[in-house]
Amino acid sequence: MSMEKADLKITGMHCESCVKLIEKALGKVKGVDSVIVNFAAGKALVNYDPALTDPSRLVKEVEKRGYGARLIEPADTGKTESAYHDELRGLRRRLITGAVFAVPALVLGMFFMKDPLPYQSYILWFLATPVQFYVGREFYLGAWIALRNGSSTMDTLVALGTSAAYFYSVYLVLFEGGEHQYFEASAVLITLVVLGKYLEAVSKHRTSEVISRLEKLFPKEASVIRNGLEVKVPVEEVDPGEIVVVRPGEQVPVDGEIIKGTTTLDESMVTGESVPVAKGVGAEVIGSTINREGSFTMKVTHTGSETMLAKIIRLVEDAQMRKAPVQRFADKVSSWFVPAVIVIACVTFIVWFLVLGAALSFALVAAVSVLVIACPCALGLATPTAIMVGTGMGAREGILIKGGDALETAGRLRHVVFDKTGTITRAAPEVTAMKVLEGYSDAECVRLAAGMERGSEHPLAKAVVRKAEVMGIQPAETEEFRTHTGRGVEALIEGNRYHIGSLRFIGEVGIDTERLRVAAEEYEAKGQTVVMLAGKGEALAIFALSDTVRHEAMETVRRLHEMGLSTSMITGDNERVARAIAAETGIKLYRSEVLPGEKSALIGQMQENGKVAMVGDGINDAPALAHADIGIAMGSGTDIAMEAGDIVFMRDDLSCLPRAIRLSRLTMQRIRLNMFWALFYNTVGIPVAAGLLYPWTGWLLNPMIAGGAMAMSSVSVVLSSLMLKLKKF
Ligand code: ADP
Ligand code: MG
Repeated sequence: MSMEKADLKITGMHCESCVKLIEKALGKVKGVDSVIVNFAAGKALVNYDPALTDPSRLVKEVEKRGYGARLIEPADTGKTESAYHDELRGLRRRLITGAVFAVPALVLGMFFMKDPLPYQSYILWFLATPVQFYVGREFYLGAWIALRNGSSTMDTLVALGTSAAYFYSVYLVLFEGGEHQYFEASAVLITLVVLGKYLEAVSKHRTSEVISRLEKLFPKEASVIRNGLEVKVPVEEVDPGEIVVVRPGEQVPVDGEIIKGTTTLDESMVTGESVPVAKGVGAEVIGSTINREGSFTMKVTHTGSETMLAKIIRLVEDAQMRKAPVQRFADKVSSWFVPAVIVIACVTFIVWFLVLGAALSFALVAAVSVLVIACPCALGLATPTAIMVGTGMGAREGILIKGGDALETAGRLRHVVFDKTGTITRAAPEVTAMKVLEGYSDAECVRLAAGMERGSEHPLAKAVVRKAEVMGIQPAETEEFRTHTGRGVEALIEGNRYHIGSLRFIGEVGIDTERLRVAAEEYEAKGQTVVMLAGKGEALAIFALSDTVRHEAMETVRRLHEMGLSTSMITGDNERVARAIAAETGIKLYRSEVLPGEKSALIGQMQENGKVAMVGDGINDAPALAHADIGIAMGSGTDIAMEAGDIVFMRDDLSCLPRAIRLSRLTMQRIRLNMFWALFYNTVGIPVAAGLLYPWTGWLLNPMIAGGAMAMSSVSVVLSSLMLKLKKF
């Protein structure tokens, strides 16, 4: 059974309770495997079995509940912007209408209370009515939809509260001829809540601006060579394999490989690295980056949704949808909050009116204030907005954190394990020396070794192949090629079986390594990795590779220690090399000659003392990366690295690691702060609104103030999340 993913744009969600509703509705559809709805992003991500259901069915299901839904196509980039502007326009219209009627009502109600104008009650009734039923229509609609689905949302609270105030006032005017009524309270309240929604929409949009910023980067045109002529065409019409010319100052239109010319490129939009990078023939270039100096010709490798930029956008979008486990707490609280508030409001009314014998209007005001102040929206926004800001900040710097879950775990890390080759050391080692058995030539050994290593992805293998290129040697043809992960490779060349790999590997195959052992150990003591070539039952040659430590490794390890994390290194290389490298970087613990399978087991042991991150190249340590709580694959933007990691660095730079952890910690702190405020506000607001303090202090919340406070609580949580942006990480 193969699953497919559908991205739905959802409109008309009012609150976290709507999220629950839609998740439940979609979850019940046959063939749906999992659903995530994100309120802050206004989206649903559905995993479904195409044999049992399809996106149009999902859209219908959402629409049946009274929400708007639309399938987002991969080519839809940029359309989220227009949906947002539509939403904003609707809110603005309601807000202005509300203000036009509510402000005069407020002025009348407040300043002409003692000396009412003739027919004042009727004027107020007239002013309050459009606000109640036009501006407030959405609340009734939302409450009705929720009711039909057997639940209640913040709309229920607002609709109940304002209706109570409005209809009680109608009753007063008709039957008591009273001058005191609450028309202005209900009108102002509705307007304030809409104001809150408007501000919330604006600031919520700011939390996801990274996506729109990236979407704006998409190049528009490319200069393609067709039939020997250079023509400008829209990028959508460029195909892989075509030849494109890029001039100074132009944007690289799509992903490709330079085939002529050299240049420097500003890749900061993708990698966060502000220093331009020099590139020559054979180098990969990324669409949307900016060509600085030279002109060059490139061959197109990826276009459209396959380009690096499109992949990054998808990754960040998916990441922003994934909920952090802390949010479960907020979800749980929200789900019983609304019914609980209705109960509290009823109790408030009964106690004041029936038990304590207060005036009907007094009891009603208290009950309405309770309904209005207790909206759980602030709580629902606390986590997703902070996650969106946090992941966005990372993306700007080329640090892609794949979702709230990864972010939360990264914030709680205790230990970091580094793989050695390609991680602590540069991904591009070089063959610095070699020694061959008497009777063999360097050239012959390099020819054999390079032939075998051509099939391997290992950084050491690539170094050997490069050595052959430098020496101008044509690598040998091989048959029956086989890799032994973490050990080496074997193959058949011209009818003879050869092995290349660690000395241990050669020993295990049953070949005597003694004659070259002393030479090998000399190199190893200097921190150089040694690879041995063996064939026809003999050890033929050793290659010493400079596995130079990355220049930022020492600083990275020091910063991690400062942040209270412990570090260690595991490697398949031998003890002497491991010791030299550990000493050079300041890593205290190391384990050498570990086979790839054992790496997972070692990580399992370390997990007993807290959350563990593993940093590797994702090529031969993928199982260990998957086993760790957080897997991080180095190797900027290779497909393997982008898929294997929970955190991806778009830049081949270890110092992204402490920054990613610090960013995660900052975001988690902000979430806790947001949650504290949201809950604090409700727990303090409800008793005051219920009039608990009234007997002692005479305090009773005016429903208008309650409405304003409620609108502000959501806005302030979103602003608090946006303030994260001011933090350095
Ligand atoms: P690390 O754990 O440091 O990343 P690996 O597990 O990738 O190291 O490899 C361990 C050792 O196995 C290397 O030091 C090397 O001696 C040997 N080896 C693995 N793959 C190859 C290969 N393709 N060619 C030569 N040697 C290899
Ligand atoms: Mg490795």
